[in-house]
Amino acid sequence: MIPMSLAEIRNAVSGKIIQGDPKSKITDISIDSRTINPGDMFVAIIGERFDGHSFIPEAVSKGARALIVDHSIKAYPGVGIILVEDTTRALQDLARYHRMLIKGLTVIGITGSAGKTTTKDMIASVLKEKYNVTKTRGNLNNYYGLPLTLLSLDGDEEIAVLEMGMSKLGEIELLASISKPDIGVITNVGPTHLENLKTVGNVARGKRELIEGLPTNGLAILNYDNKYVRDMKDYVEGKKVIYYGFSPEADVYAEHIKVDEKNKNISFIAHYKTEKERITLQKPGKHNVYNALAAIAVARYLRVDWGGIKNGLYNIDLSSLRWDVRDLGNEITLINDTYNANPLSMKAAIEATFDIAQERVITVLGGMLELGDMEEKAHVDLGRYVAERNVDVLITVGELGRLTARSAEKEGMKNVYQADNNQEASRVLLDLIKKGDTILVKGSRGNKMEEIVKMVSSQE
Ligand code: ATP
Ligand code: MG
Repeated sequence: MIPMSLAEIRNAVSGKIIQGDPKSKITDISIDSRTINPGDMFVAIIGERFDGHSFIPEAVSKGARALIVDHSIKAYPGVGIILVEDTTRALQDLARYHRMLIKGLTVIGITGSAGKTTTKDMIASVLKEKYNVTKTRGNLNNYYGLPLTLLSLDGDEEIAVLEMGMSKLGEIELLASISKPDIGVITNVGPTHLENLKTVGNVARGKRELIEGLPTNGLAILNYDNKYVRDMKDYVEGKKVIYYGFSPEADVYAEHIKVDEKNKNISFIAHYKTEKERITLQKPGKHNVYNALAAIAVARYLRVDWGGIKNGLYNIDLSSLRWDVRDLGNEITLINDTYNANPLSMKAAIEATFDIAQERVITVLGGMLELGDMEEKAHVDLGRYVAERNVDVLITVGELGRLTARSAEKEGMKNVYQADNNQEASRVLLDLIKKGDTILVKGSRGNKMEEIVKMVSSQE
């Protein structure tokens, strides 16, 4: 963070200093009392499970120099206290102010139903070849995470690459109003978070808020092959657009996609204007070609040369639990894609598994959460898809998985197993696994399916 005085912070958050020297400097900020260092400011956020105000004594004992609170609290000697109405809003207002302190900073916002984190990591990786870049750590993509990323900037960064997640309308608008993106990337729109949003059309409306939040000289980078995203052009109003996709009608497009089963690589020819280059990714899956095309669009716009793009995309370090391919020996490959799942990403991952499989494909699939009214249909559709795609073995986990299993059986699929929990799924898998198998393990975060990967890896 760029050091700020208590008075400066008070002005940014429209608060009142109820204790402390307005000139004292704050060097960093945290909402987690466990990570407070001497000189930091602690913001007492009221979360779903905890009220940050109850951790104030711990923050102070760790050396917090100032606090932001929403009601009067007991005085601590030497600790500045700023009173505000709403501490979450104060964190956001402070992040907005801090972002504006960094002159010349280019902010890139990324949203979409699937692929945000991967695309964010790819964009940051290619831009690092030329610029000083900061990106969202891991998946900190919400109304706490994004402000904290902005507040972590030191001031000498040239570019911030920010992931923006949402589960309701208005959330992306808020994140855009805090971070003021110059470039907005939309990866795709599909059935996610329907428990709040109800329809895919509403998902598109929510994602579109990123484009609407761009300045008049802003740039929208849009997936041409997703109809909902392509149609966002109508909301761009004179701002620049770069389309990417697999069709030559897109500005940046991929062709001649080749999967190298042996090395588990994927390569393609990327076209941009009159330029064309072969790009290789170490993470297969056509969905990753899309994510890479978005990164190429950003990189060429910001004049990173092709050498930098190739290097950045080849050497990207993806966040954990996403498509982590393990060789279990005996020509058995285990893919840990247990970070999350929704209908879009399930299909993408199954396709990518076929891309690298030499022999049997085994899918170990758990439930897809947060789908609201669409929950049952989504799991039934997935079962049908697995059967039609001729997956060799399906192991499902849990109640939602049962819907998938039954639907696959109904379509005539033979090798279907229903497990109640991760442990049982691991046992079933260990029993039937054989030389040459490629196994995909995937489900929503709440299922903790990495447990299966762990149990199976330690047995083999
Ligand atoms: P979250 O909403 O949980 O933050 P995310 O949008 O950040 O997810 P990633 O973490 O990048 O998405 O990827 C999650 C999974 O989605 C991947 O493991 C992969 O299976 C799938 N995926 C990644 N990119 C795409 C894409 N462009 N299209 C469809 N599926 C994708
Ligand atoms: Mg993410």
